[in-house]
Amino acid sequence: MDLFVAIWSTYIVNILDILIVSYIFYRTLLVTKGTRTIQIVIGLIILVGITILARDILHLRMLTWLMNKFWLAVAIILAVIFQTEIRYGLAKLGSKIFFSNKGIKVDFLEEIVEAVIEMSKIRIGALIVLEKDFSLKMYTDQATFLDAKVSHELLLSIFNTKSPIHDGAVIIKNGKIQAASCVLPVSTEIEVKHLGTRHRAAVGLSSLTDAIVIVVSEETGSISIVIDGKIEKYTNAKKLLEDLKENCIVLEEKDDKYEKNIFQKIISKFKKIKLKNIKKRIMLNWTFKVLSFFLALVFWMYIVAL
Ligand code: ATP
Ligand code: MG
Repeated sequence: MDLFVAIWSTYIVNILDILIVSYIFYRTLLVTKGTRTIQIVIGLIILVGITILARDILHLRMLTWLMNKFWLAVAIILAVIFQTEIRYGLAKLGSKIFFSNKGIKVDFLEEIVEAVIEMSKIRIGALIVLEKDFSLKMYTDQATFLDAKVSHELLLSIFNTKSPIHDGAVIIKNGKIQAASCVLPVSTEIEVKHLGTRHRAAVGLSSLTDAIVIVVSEETGSISIVIDGKIEKYTNAKKLLEDLKENCIVLEEKDDKYEKNIFQKIISKFKKIKLKNIKKRIMLNWTFKVLSFFLALVFWMYIVAL
């Protein structure tokens, strides 16, 4: 028993501590994901280095005073820089906890794919958003309200360049087109600077929310799905439909009826996870994972070990 307590208090507690803090750092980095974040994190690491150098090694009193004052203000500075991301990040977290797994019923995806293929052929630009757990009401509220069943004819009519509502995005929720002409937040990340505004709007919205965005390029006719700020191009209609279905978490109606119990829900969720997806999940944002772990380790050494 004593041995267990010794192992627990010397190793397991610390490992657990580092892992939990790594996870918190990881989620925080994800909220503010992008080139800008990496630059800011590197900047902060340099400032930590200067602070330690001034205070503990060179004992420069005035610089130490200045740096201490700066660190007091850091939380406010970061909150101002990342105000949009923090707002969206907290809302995303809330929607995950309370509404997670609502998913999208997928029978209307065929209609979307049919419309998208047609638009790609005749070079009509389109921006179609599939809403998941994160509410997009703030975008539909300012657009043209429709509340109409999804059909390829309707999508073609909306995006037809003669249509007064062809500019902007269509937002689809529960198989219904909520609104057209929606203005989405355009990404300002350096990686997407070379893209046009339609594609940047798709990257912008999908990195802030859990929405799936489909883009048809007016210039090239290319079809892309944008999830989590990542663009994937498609040339094959079958693959497009398959991937859309896979990303829309299909929930059979019986899940809602019979799986009231939380444990049954967790088990059924695990059953649905495929090996391929586990690998994909581990590799997802691996730079952020490594960076978060490294940061947590440095903090642990600074706070606990030293
Ligand atoms: P394409 O490949 O179709 O040319 P693109 O990515 O090069 O697309 P633009 O050529 O700038 O982008 O496309 C302009 C169109 O994108 C606008 O007419 C409008 O319909 C749509 N768009 C631009 N910005 C937004 C936005 N913030 N929200 C929604 N739609 C937008
Ligand atoms: Mg263009």
